[in-house]
Amino acid sequence: MVLPGASFADANASLEDASFIILGIPFDRTASFRSGARFAPNAIREASYNFETFLYEHEVDLLDIPIHDMGNLEEFGTVDEMVSSARMELESLVSRGRFPIVLGGEHSVTIPAVQSFEDIGVVSIDAHLDFRDEYLGGRNSHACVTHRIADHVGIDNVVVLGVRSMSREEYESPRPEHIDAAAIREMGIERAVKEAIDILDKDRIYLTVDIDGIDPSFAPGTGTPEPFGLSDVDVKKCIDLLAPRLVGFDVVEVCPPFDNGNTSAMAARLVREAIATVWKTRD
Ligand code: MN
Ligand code: MN
Repeated sequence: MVLPGASFADANASLEDASFIILGIPFDRTASFRSGARFAPNAIREASYNFETFLYEHEVDLLDIPIHDMGNLEEFGTVDEMVSSARMELESLVSRGRFPIVLGGEHSVTIPAVQSFEDIGVVSIDAHLDFRDEYLGGRNSHACVTHRIADHVGIDNVVVLGVRSMSREEYESPRPEHIDAAAIREMGIERAVKEAIDILDKDRIYLTVDIDGIDPSFAPGTGTPEPFGLSDVDVKKCIDLLAPRLVGFDVVEVCPPFDNGNTSAMAARLVREAIATVWKTRD
């Protein structure tokens, strides 16, 4: 069940008429360091009112785009219950051809989002590889997201951009392709995204943005901050370059109790960028 609340700015369409559907999943029960991502969906909505409806650079006005905000998925018990109820909700949107935009919550919320698609590639922006098979007894922990994604789409169909942290076990075991933050600084984000597209070789791509992929100086409000990250502009360009292939998008791991307001604003702006650029390529 979804609880309605204050909507994301310019999300004025009905569920029936909308092409883009926003769903908040305020879940943070597997957080390993700082919790508080459960407050992010509403903080991101609030921050979304900061921006002009018109994105002049793309000549797109969000008021012309059919966007619906479903509100937040209802409280859940365990992570496994969250995954199954979110999957049910998202599958019904995806099967009706809608473009889902998930506001986390911690990174576990990406598991049901990706599971609601078949035959896609996934690009994950993340400081962390998140490729543990199990963490603190759970397989749907936010530390296991990339592993669960790979279970669903295949290990060759996921690429992680912006990595700068992994455990020895992750480093020494078979793992998905990644381009780390240092390599992206060397080659530039354009080339990195092109490489990701080549590796995936899929027309349909889901993009998950763990906000900690961005450097903590730009995005301080997150659960597990990791220095030496991507720039905010890198991530914006990544969205622009992937837009023609995108089928779904999420932004996760914003942690409002540790934010000065800029991280929620960034997340809201990235959502607006994704909607505008995807819409433009379909126009
Ligand atoms: Mn993550
Ligand atoms: Mn992370």
